[in-house]
Amino acid sequence: MEKKRVYTFGNGQAEGKADMRNLLGGKGANLAEMNLIGVPVPPGFTITTEVCNEYFEKGKEAVVALLKDDVEKSIKGVEALMKSKFGDVENPLLVSVRSGARASMPGMMDTILNLGLNDEVVEGLARKTNNPRFAWDSYRRFVQMYGDVVLGMKPVNKEDIDPFEAIIEEVKKAKGVRLDNELDVDDLKTLVVRFKEAVKKQTGQEFPSCAYEQLWGAICAVFDSWMNERAILYRKMEGIPAEWGTAVNVQAMVFGNMGETSATGVCFSRDAATGEDLFNGEYLINAQGEDVVAGIRTPQQITKIGSQRWAELQGISEAERVAKYPSMEEAMPEIYKELDELQTKLENHYHDMQDMEFTVQEGKLWFLQTRNGKRTGAAMVRIAMEMLHQGMIDEKTALMRCEPNKLDELLHPVFDKEELGRARVLTRGLPASPGAACGRIVFFAEDAAEWHTNGHRVVLVRIETSPEDLAGMQAAEGILTARGGMTSHAAVVARGMGKCCVSGAGAINVDYKTRTVEIDGVVLKEGDYISINGTNGYVYAGEIPTQPAKLSGNFAELMELCDKYARLKVRTNADTPRNAQDARGFGAVGIGLCRTEHMFFDDEKIVAMREMILAKDVEGRKKALDKLLPYQKADFKEIFKTMDGLPVNVRLLDPPLHEFVPHDLKGQEEMAQAMGVTVDYIRQRVESLCEHNPMLGHRGCRLGNTYPEITEMQTRAILGAACELKKEGYDPHPEIMVPLIGILYEFEAQEKVIRETAAKLFKEEGVEIPFKVGTMIEVPRAALTADRIASHAEYFSFGTNDLTQMTFGYSRDDIASFLPVYLEKKILKVDPFQVLDQNGVGQLIEMAVAKGRSVRPELKCGICGEHGGEPMSVKFCHKVGLDYVSCSPFRVPIARLAAAQAVIEESL
Ligand code: ADP
Ligand code: MG
Ligand code: MG
Repeated sequence: MEKKRVYTFGNGQAEGKADMRNLLGGKGANLAEMNLIGVPVPPGFTITTEVCNEYFEKGKEAVVALLKDDVEKSIKGVEALMKSKFGDVENPLLVSVRSGARASMPGMMDTILNLGLNDEVVEGLARKTNNPRFAWDSYRRFVQMYGDVVLGMKPVNKEDIDPFEAIIEEVKKAKGVRLDNELDVDDLKTLVVRFKEAVKKQTGQEFPSCAYEQLWGAICAVFDSWMNERAILYRKMEGIPAEWGTAVNVQAMVFGNMGETSATGVCFSRDAATGEDLFNGEYLINAQGEDVVAGIRTPQQITKIGSQRWAELQGISEAERVAKYPSMEEAMPEIYKELDELQTKLENHYHDMQDMEFTVQEGKLWFLQTRNGKRTGAAMVRIAMEMLHQGMIDEKTALMRCEPNKLDELLHPVFDKEELGRARVLTRGLPASPGAACGRIVFFAEDAAEWHTNGHRVVLVRIETSPEDLAGMQAAEGILTARGGMTSHAAVVARGMGKCCVSGAGAINVDYKTRTVEIDGVVLKEGDYISINGTNGYVYAGEIPTQPAKLSGNFAELMELCDKYARLKVRTNADTPRNAQDARGFGAVGIGLCRTEHMFFDDEKIVAMREMILAKDVEGRKKALDKLLPYQKADFKEIFKTMDGLPVNVRLLDPPLHEFVPHDLKGQEEMAQAMGVTVDYIRQRVESLCEHNPMLGHRGCRLGNTYPEITEMQTRAILGAACELKKEGYDPHPEIMVPLIGILYEFEAQEKVIRETAAKLFKEEGVEIPFKVGTMIEVPRAALTADRIASHAEYFSFGTNDLTQMTFGYSRDDIASFLPVYLEKKILKVDPFQVLDQNGVGQLIEMAVAKGRSVRPELKCGICGEHGGEPMSVKFCHKVGLDYVSCSPFRVPIARLAAAQAVIEESL
């Protein structure tokens, strides 16, 4: 059988359904599904995503020939249902041509509305509807959209004005009006004539008048748009493969611009910003398509409560609100009721929050789209947990609904309360996407990206945003716009990115030319600091410090649910009591890596440390170590106290020593003075410490094995702190970890020092602390000989940063010189220092665990590299049977969720 390329839908029937989104795209699959479940949808058909690939393989002509019969037949079907005819003058059928990929790509592809109009048909439409204004408004929109999208007249450089918009401005100016809807029929006719002249002038061709010619042009343009720059950029950001392709939906037009009983809108079954279970949305009377999202007219709220909240934010009185900005619930109560019923039906059907688009044509409601709505991290958690409570989904579904990396947003800092009290409020806009953001003002997306690259935090301030601004929005801490509602481009995209956004701040006057923004008399320039709160819409002058977020409410509950399913435990990498405290708050059940070297970078401590390193002999080293001991002990004591009752894995000194010594003359003079030696001596010692390949040099256990007195001191500090705490009634669980082992004997020698020191210390102190001695597995040879090493080591911790470095032979410090090219050329899919390389490095881990447990079945294994907080890597760790992962404090909740998902995915 010939491959099926076109799937029809309409009048309660459809050839496709919801689970065919790979073939029909999300939009097409859901248009079909809505038909099947009795939601009113204008009839139409979907050309499959496979055809998109054929289009790029075989070219335009070939694909049009392949599609011709099916498309013409499907149009006939729509004609029958709509009782009108495509291209007919007296009774014309108009259609929209819409793109729709597998994953929703908001604002990425261009839709063409009102297709099928020409100079004769428009007259027929005016007669048929008895509404010339509507007919001509539709026509001028069509010529404009078709010109922009299909004929490529939309300026590439967004600084340039759209040629059609320029004409509209001229006509409005000549007439002395401000708004589009103040133009009358004759003005609209003038617009069409001038638009077509502009088309002729710019493309050298007449505007196509044949309906089918228009249709083929539009279908091909949708396919072409799959390869446009912003689509490619979006796919790159979201990791969507180009092979997925886009489907094309052709659908009978329904008109929201037929007068006061017509409208168009966008709505959500729950709040996409906060997750609150509250139907909400925006609509515009007598408007069409993208008017709501385009931010040209300020849309009104759908529900009364939404409208009241909106008015409050805008400082509008209830009387004024009711008179000027009534909600749909108040203005069109019957339609509202139907809309509310259908949105509930859709949410119940899909068991997820729906993002819907609809149009009302002369009192009749039509749905044009539904999809699972994009949401912020906070909304993601709240919706999952509330749907669980409402019995709509089960526990496993709730856990799988949450995307681990998106939890990051909930851990983002909030403005410091006290500082906030002192801050100056400039204005208030709409709370479009929650969070706190603070940065320097930039006005253009390119600048945002560039400033960000140069290390600045920026807030992108614009009148409105468009799809061209994606990269800049991504680079910014937050986005502030003057125009547009909660469903404007800026708001939708920011929520998708989890980026703070305040939209529709009407009081701000942006001047792109002078690069300034005036807010209530205050003028801010490019580069000035501004702070915005996307949770409540407030905009502040200057820089406001932030503080970390806390686990509570739904989020805390979700985390408990994770623990119910997860087998893998989550520890944290923490070197300070502060970090340890944060991590414990996020549910870490121990420290998986406590580095000791950071503790030395303190004014006094660094001098003693340098003395130790630069000492002539053992004697001198011991003297310096004696000075360091009390410092180290005090540091450990605080950390053990914070982690009372939980294991703390302390790594012995690891980095190359030259990292600690002064390389400048002034520093060397100071050391000479402190140690009573000549500057020359210091300089020579410093030079002798320099290595060609420090990462492979004198570091890790090689330090402890050449200078055992360091290990001795550190053991005394670690266990001494534990002894003191025990006497004070605490319950410390120290673990001592020897880094960079490659040979069993390296470990044995260090273990001997540790155990002997411990025995001596316990005798002196009169207490005994149970402790473990383990090792890092970070040198490939250690993984290869893991069974031998496990005969002595009580636990393994995979140091996947070094293990990745040594397995690939990529220097962590030098990878920037080639990694971007490798990623670009797809030699590497991802940065192996961020996402664990399961095939290579992963194999070493799997093998080492098996070998180690073959001689010591109870061997505890964990991971402490950066990978411990990366969801895919966490899932891998679960699979190979590690006991725990350890990650930075702010990634602990992410790892906990990934650990739970790993268990659920096993049973899928
Ligand atoms: P996007 O993917 O950018 O949301 P859509 O294809 O959904 O683009 O089209 C944008 C808007 O155009 C829709 O929300 C709807 O308002 C309008 N639209 C599309 N098709 C039709 C149609 N057949 N009748 C009326 N309006 C339509
Ligand atoms: Mg679009
Ligand atoms: Mg849409």
